[in-house]
Amino acid sequence: MIALVRRERPAAEGVPIWLLDIDGVINAVTDLPDRRVWPDHEWVRTSAPSKHDLEWPILAATPVLDFLRRVHEQGRAEIWGHSTWQHHSVNVGTALGLPVWPVRECPEFGSQDTALATPLARTKQTWWKLPAALRVLDEGRPLLWTDDDVRHQLRAADTRPWGDRALVVAPPVEVGLTPRQLRRIDRWLTRWAV
Ligand SMILES: [Mg+2]
Repeated sequence: MIALVRRERPAAEGVPIWLLDIDGVINAVTDLPDRRVWPDHEWVRTSAPSKHDLEWPILAATPVLDFLRRVHEQGRAEIWGHSTWQHHSVNVGTALGLPVWPVRECPEFGSQDTALATPLARTKQTWWKLPAALRVLDEGRPLLWTDDDVRHQLRAADTRPWGDRALVVAPPVEVGLTPRQLRRIDRWLTRWAV
């Protein structure tokens, strides 16, 4: 994995690609929304069908949804789903009134136990989500990657060589993207504005 990550990559240009995870990023994985992060009235609850039509609870913060919508509408980034929801991602988007975003092609999905709780960064295995991120950099595009599991699956040394071409943000799983993280993303996107 290390060799894969440290390969030289071209300078990035163009509109950033945003790889967007769902659970722990849009969907706060908790029963009790954290009112210290977003006030009570900002949280919305819904549900969305996943595999086998299982209905999953969704808890999201309106400011996060608004931010995503604005970024999309203003063309500041190309947003792509990159989550274990895969083609069911659209169900979450529909439940939350989000635009339909394509799912990033990821043949590695299913190549390992995607429900695996053990951090892979401590093993020789490559996290199934990583190759898609590397392909974005190989295409020469700036990469924004929001995924709560990044902190378990990658080390700082893995992403440091990406430099300014990538912004990797790991929200707290029980909250999702925080106000501070949204401001950081906003600043980073502004740097790439044409
Ligand atoms: Mg997640």
